[in-house]
Amino acid sequence: MKIDAFETSALMNVAARPDLVAVEGRGSWLIDQRGRRYLDFVQGWAVNALGHCPPQVADALAAQAQRLVNPSPAFFNDAALGLAQRLAALSGLERVFLCSSGAEANEGAIKLARKWGQLQRDGAFEIITFADAFHGRTLATMSASGKSGWDALFEPKIPGFPKARLNDLASVQALISARTVAVMLEPVQGEAGVVLADAAFLQALRALCDAQGLLLILDEVQTGIGRTGTTFAFEQVGVRPDILTLGKGLGGGVPLAALLASEQVAAAFAHGDQGGTYCGNPLMAAVGSAVLSAVAQPAFLAGVRERTGQLQSVLRRVAARLGGSERGAGLLRALVLPTPVAHRVVEAACALPQTGLLINAPRPNVIRLMPALNVTAEEIERFAQLFDAALEVAP
Ligand SMILES: *Cc1c(COP(=O)(O)O)cnc(C)c1O
Repeated sequence: MKIDAFETSALMNVAARPDLVAVEGRGSWLIDQRGRRYLDFVQGWAVNALGHCPPQVADALAAQAQRLVNPSPAFFNDAALGLAQRLAALSGLERVFLCSSGAEANEGAIKLARKWGQLQRDGAFEIITFADAFHGRTLATMSASGKSGWDALFEPKIPGFPKARLNDLASVQALISARTVAVMLEPVQGEAGVVLADAAFLQALRALCDAQGLLLILDEVQTGIGRTGTTFAFEQVGVRPDILTLGKGLGGGVPLAALLASEQVAAAFAHGDQGGTYCGNPLMAAVGSAVLSAVAQPAFLAGVRERTGQLQSVLRRVAARLGGSERGAGLLRALVLPTPVAHRVVEAACALPQTGLLINAPRPNVIRLMPALNVTAEEIERFAQLFDAALEVAP
């Protein structure tokens, strides 16, 4: 298929995509092959923490590219050491493994928990995960996920991921056996439609894991790095995991992710258990440090919380008008529609006259908003106008 001068058929057809070819991005704006502008409230799926092409990312890439790109993971490099130290200090988890995608970080978390189970829990290997969870697209992370429609894909699944129900402690307790090594979850289930784990549930899970000698794994690939208004979502509930995964916003748009663990748990990995050609490469690590320098600052995070309040009131107004509801954590928010027209609204928003609006529908009745963390008050006002126009086309 052709879109203007661009031939698209050489790419594997793994996703339905609209008729636009992205050629440029600036902050909250994406520009296509015709020069059409879109207000981007998807931002690469909550990836561009500082918007498109922020100077911090562009400068870090350019400077590091002139100095050292990849000495191989067999050597220490200054950029990776710097990023690891900052992540450890911010999270309170002493050991960091840097990698390239959220799925890779979660795959590492699963391996680490299983290795720890071999050494510390008599070979226990089961990791309790949750219905509607999303942990990535490798075979093990798909098996850990509870996304509907995935049950029968790519059989046989990797065994060892019994599914509990979010915010239902009894459903977790019922699955615990001598084979159990860990409980793994997202503080906010993003793909499920921005469904929050209750603070009380997370606190009870922490207590349960402590009492049973199990590891608590938090997948903060989407919620981490300021998305929910604090550097990590777990800070808001006072629950520190034993293993934490980060991705998306950490790289501000470049492929960077991280697996973090307490010193005691990380000690289960022996040389050779975990690695990868691009793991800890200085080009991406330098960007991660630049993103953290911008985001992990009290004034920046206060700004995220201020914009959160503004976006929330816009969404509450729309929800009241349509008879829907609004929910979320920080700048990861959702509008729940009374009817399953979310995909039509997304299409209408993209195709609005003059200026387009990019939003996402993780569920037939749910629209998800993930603007840049430095979105401005004026851009949220603009969003409100464009969103209203899109909702008119598809009520
Ligand atoms: C996006 C996401 C992943 C997968 O990250 P990739 O970088 O796409 O592999 C895993 N967990 C959660 C919660 C995510 O949102």
